[in-house]
Amino acid sequence: MRPARALIDLQALRHNYQLAREITGAKALAVIKADAYGHGAVRVAQALEAEANGFAVACIEEALELRAAGIRAPVLLLEGFFEADELPLIIEHDLWCVVHSLWQLEAIEQARLSKPLTVWLKLDSGMHRVGLHPKDFQEAYQRLLASGKVAKIVLMSHFARADELDCVCSNEQVAVFEAARQGLSAEVSLRNSPSVMGWPNVSSDWVRPGIMLYGATPFGEDQAIAARLQPVMTLESKVICVRELPAGEPVGYGARFVTPKPMRVGVVAMGYADGYPRHAPTGTPVLVAGQRSQLLGRVSMDMLCVDLTDVHQAGLGSTVELWGKNILASDVATAAETIPYQIFCNLRRVPRLYSGA
Ligand SMILES: *Cc1c(COP(=O)(O)O)cnc(C)c1O
Repeated sequence: MRPARALIDLQALRHNYQLAREITGAKALAVIKADAYGHGAVRVAQALEAEANGFAVACIEEALELRAAGIRAPVLLLEGFFEADELPLIIEHDLWCVVHSLWQLEAIEQARLSKPLTVWLKLDSGMHRVGLHPKDFQEAYQRLLASGKVAKIVLMSHFARADELDCVCSNEQVAVFEAARQGLSAEVSLRNSPSVMGWPNVSSDWVRPGIMLYGATPFGEDQAIAARLQPVMTLESKVICVRELPAGEPVGYGARFVTPKPMRVGVVAMGYADGYPRHAPTGTPVLVAGQRSQLLGRVSMDMLCVDLTDVHQAGLGSTVELWGKNILASDVATAAETIPYQIFCNLRRVPRLYSGA
């Protein structure tokens, strides 16, 4: 059997969820969209269901997968419905629904619903992606109430730059939000992971942690809460071939690495078809037989090469950690000029093995 696999530590996941709760004192929707950032939405939801206040996903397809697996906790659709004909299903499966646009508000007004909806009304406080314009916010709230089709409204917005700890934009977004919701007595939800971890003064009845649940930091710099996260996913494989090469020999496609001295090179069963980033360059950290080493040359579809020259205990069959508790996914992401979010979401083909359920 091919040795490539992703080990998922559900105990670490619960630790990270509890940390988000503890440092905010708020209710927390665990964000498990995109198959829980590659970790497996159903398994992650099952592991958190006993303690989570609810879950958040991107669309009804993701929500129905949870319901089909028996998850009864609240599930919020972060983009609401894409077409009005999803509304009966939203009611039937007891889902919570973001309203981010006037067309969605109109669809609710016109719908015939057997039960009232729980709506999270979203303000565009400055990111300019989705969300109602501040001038429309109060009226939208009143129209939802007047429609008679809504049981509860939570007011929400989303930060564009909360991962930049010295940027004033998040404060400006909070000010826009506070002005827009003046006089409305409803719960609010503002904080994603960078805001949960780095912006303790933003008040939010509900927080929406995603990446931090999986133990990766959204920040490009060291940060106190980031140091308390526990990585959940370990991507590992084994050395399947060892080469002793003299100086001056190319390694891999395009001869992008040429040995500067005699070297021992290990070939690992892991490639970009597994989601390992093809753009990770020579020097990207890996852990071989418990010792830090580096990637060599181009990543291929099913294999990549690592430096065994100074890892004397390593050889055929040695375990290689591509990311996990020793090699942080965020460090691999930085080397490959991407973010840990994408590193995790790209995971495919490798079996996921769960522990700590
Ligand atoms: C994805 C998402 C989150 C979670 O973001 P993280 O940075 O992963 O914590 C929170 N809120 C909304 C609206 C999202 O789309």
